[in-house]
Amino acid sequence: MSDGASTAAAKAPRPLLLIDDDRLQARMVQQQLKAFRRDQFEMEWAATFEDGLERLLSDEHEVCLLDFQLGERDGLELIQKAKEAGCTVPIVFLTAESSSDIDIRAMNAGAMDYLVKGEISASTLERSIRYALKLASTLAELNRLATHDELTGLLNRRELDRILSEEADRSARFGRPFSLVMLDLDHFKSVNDKYGHAAGDQVLQETARRISGLLRKTDRIARFGGEEIAVLLIELAEDAAAEVADRLVAEVRSTPYLLKDGTSLQITISAGLASLSHVAATADELMTAADAALYRAKSTGRDRLEVAPLREGQD
Ligand code: GH3
Ligand code: MG
Ligand code: MG
Repeated sequence: MSDGASTAAAKAPRPLLLIDDDRLQARMVQQQLKAFRRDQFEMEWAATFEDGLERLLSDEHEVCLLDFQLGERDGLELIQKAKEAGCTVPIVFLTAESSSDIDIRAMNAGAMDYLVKGEISASTLERSIRYALKLASTLAELNRLATHDELTGLLNRRELDRILSEEADRSARFGRPFSLVMLDLDHFKSVNDKYGHAAGDQVLQETARRISGLLRKTDRIARFGGEEIAVLLIELAEDAAAEVADRLVAEVRSTPYLLKDGTSLQITISAGLASLSHVAATADELMTAADAALYRAKSTGRDRLEVAPLREGQD
C-alpha cells in the first residue's frame, strides 16, 4: 500500500516570496515556476520594499527571489535589513544589470545566488533555487555545530560569550535588566568515579533537559564548561531571577535520575546568581559576580542558591 499522506506532503507546493516592483517580471517568474520539473513552488508576490521586507520577516517562505531595483530603494538594502533582523530565508538576487559589482555586493550581503533578468529560464531558476535551499540548510547545520554543545544540545561557551556581551550592551543602552545564573553539579566527579563516564554523560544530558524544561524560549542556556551550565534570564531582574534559579535547583533535587541501565541517582546542583542592574556593569563583571556567588553556594553546603550581593553605592 502506498502511503497517501506522505506522497501528498511531498508534493505540497513550497512557499516562495518574490519581491519585485515589475508586474511583468512577476508574471514571468510565475510561469517559470509552473514549468519546474521537480519541486513545486507557490509564489507570493510583494511589489514594494516595505511590503517585501515585512513578508520576508514573517518567516513563512522557504526561499525568496529579490529584485535589485525596488523603486527608490534597492534589494541590497533589503537584504541587509533582513539579515540584521535575523532572517535566515535563503535569497536569490535578481537584477537587470549584468554588472559584476552588484553580484559580488549581493553575495557579500548574504544572497545565496545571483541571476540576471533576461537570461533566466525555468531550468536555471529551478537549479538556482535548489542550490540556494541546499546551501542554506548546510549553512544552518554548520551554524548549529559551531554554536551548540554536542553532548547536551545546549549553546556552547563561545556562543554564550557572544550573547552575554550583546545582552550587556542592550541592557546598558535600554536600561533593561537581565540576570546570569551559573550552575554546577555537586560532587559530579564521584558520579564518574562510581558509575563511569557514560553515566556521568547521561546525568549531564538529563540536567540539561530538566533545566531547559523550566525556562522560557527567550532564555539562553549554555554548557559553560565540563559540568557547569550558564543560564541567561533575559528581562529578569534579581528577585524574579532568584525565584527561577531556586526552581532550577529544586527541579534537579526533586526526583532521582534514572539511567539507561536502571541505576537511580540522587543529583543536586548549586547555583550563583548575579543581576546586571544591581551588581555588575559589564558582561565580565556579571560573570565574576555569578561565579563568586556559586563558590559561596558550594562552600555553604551545596544544593542551594546564592545571590551576588549588591555593589556598594547602589540600591
Ligand atoms: P563540586 O561539588 O565542588 O562541584 O565537586 P565536583 O566533583 O562536581 O567538581 P570537580 O570540578 O572536582 O569535578 C568535575 C568533574 O566533571 C570532573 C570531570 O571529569 C567531570 N566532567 C567534566 N566534563 C565531563 C563530561 O563531558 N562528561 C563526564 N562524564 N564528566 C565530565
Ligand atoms: Mg561540580
Ligand atoms: Mg566544576
